[in-house]
Amino acid sequence: MDASAKTTSIQAGQMYAGFACDADVRSVASSGGVVSAVLLELLERGHAGALVSKITSSPDGIAAETILVRTREEVLGCAGSSYIDTPVIQTVVRLHDQAGPIAVVALPCQARALRRLMQHRPELREKFWPIIGLFCRGNVTTGFYDDFFRSIGIESSRVRSVKVSRSHVKGRVLVRLDNDHELSIPFMWLNAYRLAGIGAKSLCTWCDEHLAAEADLSVGDIFTKPFKDRQIKHSALVARDEWTRSLIEEMANGGKLSVELVGMDAYERSFKRVQRFSDQQASRKLGALLAGRPRPSGKLSGRFNFFHSLAWSIILLNGKLSRTRLGRRIIFALPRPVITAMALLIKVLSRL
Ligand SMILES: Cc1cc2nc3c(=O)[nH]c(=O)nc-3n(C[C@H](O)[C@H](O)[C@H](O)COP(=O)(O)OP(=O)(O)OC[C@H]3O[C@@H](n4cnc5c(N)ncnc54)[C@H](O)[C@@H]3O)c2cc1C
Ligand code: SF4
Repeated sequence: MDASAKTTSIQAGQMYAGFACDADVRSVASSGGVVSAVLLELLERGHAGALVSKITSSPDGIAAETILVRTREEVLGCAGSSYIDTPVIQTVVRLHDQAGPIAVVALPCQARALRRLMQHRPELREKFWPIIGLFCRGNVTTGFYDDFFRSIGIESSRVRSVKVSRSHVKGRVLVRLDNDHELSIPFMWLNAYRLAGIGAKSLCTWCDEHLAAEADLSVGDIFTKPFKDRQIKHSALVARDEWTRSLIEEMANGGKLSVELVGMDAYERSFKRVQRFSDQQASRKLGALLAGRPRPSGKLSGRFNFFHSLAWSIILLNGKLSRTRLGRRIIFALPRPVITAMALLIKVLSRL
C-alpha cells in the first residue's frame, strides 16, 4: 500500500457509513453492499459458509428460504433485502452438525433469539459466527406476498425471486418469474402495505430494538442528509466487538470497504423522531388492546404520545384485519391510493 495513503481506524460500538468497493457487489446489494462484501471476505479467509436468505416460491405460494452459501456467486445471488419472515433460527438448528465456521445474517429479533439459544447450546456459538444483524423496523409474513401479488395479477407459484432495489423514496421491487421474465414494481406499492401494518408479523407488535444490538456486526440503510445525495448508496454499520472491529478496519485499509465515521450520537440525532416512534412501547397500548394482542410482562418502554397511539392503533388493527381471510379480501379490494394515504397518515402521525 502507498505509505502516504490514509488509514482508517474503526471503533467498536460507533456508527459508520460505508460501501463495498467492488461495484459488482453494490449492483446487487440493498444499500452499500457491506453485508455481502463482509461475507465474501469471510469466505476468502476460510469460513466454511454463510447463512443468507431470500424469497422464492413453492406450488403453495411464496416461501422464504435461509440457505447455506459457499461461493461468491451464491452470496451475490442472495444479496439484497427480503422483507419477509425468514427461517434463520430453524436453519441454524438444522445445520448444527455442518463444518464451521458459518456466518449468519439475521434480523434483530433473530439475533436476539440466536444469542439466547447459544447460551444453552454453546457449541452453536462456536460454529455460527459472526452474526450480522440487519436494522429492521417492521416485517411481513409470507402470506402477505401471496395476497399482494394476487392483487397486482402475479401468480405466486411462478415467482422465483423478489429483490428490492431501494433508494430514499423511490426504489423498485424486481420480481423474477419461472420463465426468467423480470417485472419491476414501485417499492412504494409494497411498502405502503408494510408501513400500514398489513400482513405484519405478530412478533413486531412490541418490538423496540431495531439496530440489531445483539449481533456482532449491525448493518442498515443510511438516508441522512449528507448521504442522501451521494452517487454511491451507503450502508450504516456498527462493529459490536473487537473481532468484527478489526475485520472492518482491515477491509477498509485493504481497499475492500470504503468507511467513514458518522457517530452514534449523530445517527441517533438524525433518527430521533423515527426512533421515538419505533423504539417506544407505551403508545402501542390502546392499539394492542383493540387488536387483542397480549402485552409483554413488565413496564412498557417510553412515554405515551397521543398521535403515536393513533398511528399504532391503525397499524395494529390493520395487522389484526389482515390475519383473517375476510379482512384480507377487504384490504386488497381497497384502491391502492387508500393504502398509500393510510401509510402517509401513519408517517405524519409518527413524526408528531
Ligand atoms: C425485513 C427487513 C426490514 C428492514 N428494515 C430496515 C429499516 O427499517 N431501516 C434500515 O436502516 N434498514 C432496514 N433493513 C436493512 C436494509 O434493508 C439492508 O438489508 C441493509 O442496509 C444491508 O444492506 P447491504 O447492502 O449492506 O446488504 P446486502 O449486501 O444487500 O446483503 C443483505 C444480506 O441480508 C440477507 N437478508 C435479506 N433479507 C433477509 C431476511 N429477511 N432475513 C435474513 N437475512 C436477510 C441477504 O441474503 C444478504 O445476504 C431491513 C431489512 C430487512 C430484511
Ligand atoms: S420489527 Fe422487530 S420483531 Fe419485527 S422482524 Fe424486525 S426485528 Fe423482528
